[in-house]
Parts: sequence; C-alpha cells; structure tokens
Amino acid sequence: MASLGIPKNTIEILQKYNFVFQKRFGQNFLVDTRILEKIITAAHIEEDDCVLEIGPGIGTMTQYLCESARKVIAVEIDKSLIPILSDTLSEYDNYRIINEDILKVDINKLVQEENGGKPIKVVANLPYYITTPIIMGLFEIHVPIDSITIMVQKEVADRMQVGPGTKEYGALSLAVQYYALPEIITNVPANCFMPRPNVGSAVIRLTRHKDIPVDVIDEKLMFKIIRASFNQRRKTLQNSVSHSGDLNVTKEMIETALVEMGLPVAVRGEALSLHQFAELSNIIYKQIKL
Ligand code: SAM
Repeated sequence: MASLGIPKNTIEILQKYNFVFQKRFGQNFLVDTRILEKIITAAHIEEDDCVLEIGPGIGTMTQYLCESARKVIAVEIDKSLIPILSDTLSEYDNYRIINEDILKVDINKLVQEENGGKPIKVVANLPYYITTPIIMGLFEIHVPIDSITIMVQKEVADRMQVGPGTKEYGALSLAVQYYALPEIITNVPANCFMPRPNVGSAVIRLTRHKDIPVDVIDEKLMFKIIRASFNQRRKTLQNSVSHSGDLNVTKEMIETALVEMGLPVAVRGEALSLHQFAELSNIIYKQIKL
C-alpha cells in the first residue's frame, strides 16, 4: 500500500470507508511523509524493538513502524477505525491492534506478554486532550520504556522541556524531567494534518533516565510540594505550600527549609530546579518525621 502520508492516499481511504472524524477523540491525521520520516528516525527503532503506538488512526505511522520494528502494538479507541486498519496494514503481520481506551489498558501486562517485560519504545501522534494523563500514566506505573517519541501540542512540548525561571516552567516540566530527558525534535505546522488542528504541534522525544537524577526520600511528597507550588503561581512557595489542603506543612517548616537551602523566604516555585525541589522535600520529610 502506498504511504498514507501522501494526502491523496489518505483521502482515498477516508472516502472508501465514509469515515467521519470524531472531534472528541482528537482525530487529526498526519499527511506529511517528511514529518513521518523524522518521527521514525528520532525514535531510533531497531529491528528487534517492540513499539507501542497510541492512537494509530488509519495506520499512517503504523505502516512506517511495521517496516522498522519487530512488533507493533497499536491501541485505538475508535472502533470504526479497526476495519480500516486491517485494510491499510494488510501487507504486514507484525502488528496487534487493541480496540481500547489507552487509559484503561494494563500496559505493564501488555509489555510482559509482547516483549517479555523488556523495555518498549512508545511512538504516537497523541490525542491532545489526554496528553498529560497518558505520559504521566506511563511513567508513574513504571512501564519498562526506553523512550517516548510523540507529537504533542507545541506549548506542551515547550512546557516539558524548559527549566526554572520561564513562564512555561511548571509541574509538568518537573515531572517529565524527573523521569526522562526531553528533546524537541521539530515543530510541525497545522497544514501537515487532516483536518488541520487549531494549534501548533511539535515532536518531542523523552528518553527515560537509567537512574533518577535526584536523591529523593519520598517521591509522592516531592510531587505534592511541586503541585502545590505551581497551583497559585503568583504566590510565594511558602504561601502556596502551607495553604495546600493536600499537605500538612506549616509556614515555619518551609521557612526553616528555605533558609537551610540558602534560598530567599519569598522565593516562588518557578525559581526552583528539580534538585532544589528534591532537597526541599527531603528537609520537609525529616521535619514531618520528627
Ligand atoms: N496516528 C494517527 C496519525 O498520525 O495520523 C492518528 C493520530 S490522531 C492525532 C489521535 C488518534 O488517537 C486518533 O486515531 C484517535 O481516535 C485516537 N484516540 C483518541 N483517544 C484515544 C484513547 N483514549 N485511547 C486510544 N486511542 C485514542
């Protein structure tokens, strides 16, 4: 089958099946072979790899993945796409389509079944409405993963990659950088999709750290402190964290910790690096346990 990255071929398939785009599933299909090739190159797929694709759509990227990987597992929520995928992937026998909501799939079990528990690579042109729960879900349930190469909304890619002191920096930046090294591969204009999305897009690769880059005693506590710090960006870290209903930390405890770290008491969350959040949470952990 000729590449669906060529708009004419995508239109032909959509017409053949009278496909109706579902806005609620974030359906914007890629129609640009150059971008598809960039994604595949960035994902560093090797012939023994098992790849998880989230939202294959009509199989545009799945075709490229089937060419380069040993096995492709593609999870698609929209049942009207399943017969289309059997058609567009008819040349291949190294794929498995699962008609499910990715947020309900037991991915650890899947990796066990399909790759003997060895790390997989995730490649996807994500549905933008659930980008964050998908990424955080993959990291937090400790799915064995080498890398995640994904198309996301441009602003989200920027938020994942930036460091302290920028307006995009926040809880997502810290969570992603705790688990992985983010690298933006390329920006993707709206005209590379059918239909065109209202936002700009970017491809980002998240390479999982072999070892977590900071020493943190209580991961959950650190992420609660991070979330509280960015909940009200205009407030000082001391005020936002001490007012958080999710934590039992007093203003005095935070002040002591900030002084111990040599930071101004009026510092805002957006000024702290991941290492500093780890240190802060370790000091607070010891204060709570006293
Ligand atoms: N991979 C295709 C491409 O690049 O042209 C389609 C990408 S489109 C942006 C997102 C795809 O994710 C759609 O096919 C949509 O139906 C699917 N999708 C949306 N929500 C999903 C979910 N919760 N679980 C699995 N797939 C989902």
